[in-house]
Amino acid sequence: MSEAAGAYVISGPTAVGKGTVVAALKKRHPRVFVSVSVTTRPPRPGEINGVHYLFVDDAVFDDLVADDGLLEWARVHGVHRYGTPRKAVANRLAEGVPTILEIDLQGARQVRRTMPEAKQIFIAPPSWDELVRRLRGRGTESEEEMNRRLETARQELAAENEFDRVIANVTVDNTVDELVKFIGL
Ligand code: 5GP
Repeated sequence: MSEAAGAYVISGPTAVGKGTVVAALKKRHPRVFVSVSVTTRPPRPGEINGVHYLFVDDAVFDDLVADDGLLEWARVHGVHRYGTPRKAVANRLAEGVPTILEIDLQGARQVRRTMPEAKQIFIAPPSWDELVRRLRGRGTESEEEMNRRLETARQELAAENEFDRVIANVTVDNTVDELVKFIGL
């Protein structure tokens, strides 16, 4: 079994680039298993069922929850549900494969309770100012909507204290370097 074997949660505020970072990590280290989540969200153009997500309807998701088939699940942005299939993760961990869960902050909190041995990594924006710039950059929101988003971002950033490691995502390459070091790949 490798030093790196174990579960690693990668989480952080919305729109911080977690997905891009995890894809780059997988490209550099194909041996890692990146859990494929189940979701009730419809596929976006180019997304492939079983690769990006397992796309299911509400009834199938309900059954997975009822059968305890999900390690964690959450409703993200108030609309669609996302969850981590329990079995695939358990199987890979049993094989000694380093396993990545790229999930939102609610999911990370659940995993902290149910799988406390999993290491938790928070991907942060380079700085608060940069985050405000990115949010303001779109320029389409009303002042009220902007304030709501900033408040959400502030709360999300405060969650970094709950994590084993915080990595500021300045460049994808550098963030992957830091992840590789932390995981021991
Ligand atoms: P998107 O719809 O843009 O692919 O993802 C929206 C959010 O859902 C992202 O923040 C992503 O981290 C989160 N997410 C994806 N899969 C899961 C999962 O299995 N569980 C939880 N809790 N969040 C997930």
